[in-house]
Amino acid sequence: MTQTSICVFCGSSNAADPAYLDLATRFGRACAQRGWRLVYGGGRVGLMGRAASAAHEAGGAVLGVMPNFLARKEIVYRDVPHVMVATMHERKRIMFEESDGFVVLPGGIGTLEEAVEMLSWRRLELHQKPLVFLSEDDFWRPFFALIDHTVEARLTPPDIEQAVLAANSIDDAFTAIEQRLSYTPPVEAIAKT
Ligand code: AMP
Repeated sequence: MTQTSICVFCGSSNAADPAYLDLATRFGRACAQRGWRLVYGGGRVGLMGRAASAAHEAGGAVLGVMPNFLARKEIVYRDVPHVMVATMHERKRIMFEESDGFVVLPGGIGTLEEAVEMLSWRRLELHQKPLVFLSEDDFWRPFFALIDHTVEARLTPPDIEQAVLAANSIDDAFTAIEQRLSYTPPVEAIAKT
């Protein structure tokens, strides 16, 4: 059986609320304990660095994907397998292809961008991979409200809500992903975008 790979999208800021940094640490460790490989942006900074180092230190597999131009700013985590790429698009494509599902932890614009693109591809039926927004303090509530707003305005079909999974604990996030992991996504379709 091949190993399950979970991609985490999360903040790169070291100034984030310590509770978010701690959530990222526990999330990385829990992935390792679950036997899941963690796929992520490849850096040592912020929540992403915490999640990756916790997974690695707990004996878990990690794959980082880092654009060359960000290597210094986001500090490539060289202790784990990593791929250097040329562009943000390539980074996201590899993170997508290498993963069976996605967990979104608190983050800023970059995290939003990555999560929204996965949602958008899902809405276009380019994949069926689960996407779970995880926070322990309702961090994602305003984002869910914005999505609801676009649904109420009949700009987004209501079935998008099936694609926006919310979890308020790591265990719930894992359960949500496991329940939806049986589908094999049409990866070739993504290559056409
Ligand atoms: P942030 O949430 O703004 O701290 O960003 C989180 C991560 O998303 C950082 O590693 C950014 O480099 C990354 N990021 C931002 N925009 C993109 C993009 N368009 N494609 C892939 N990664 C991105």
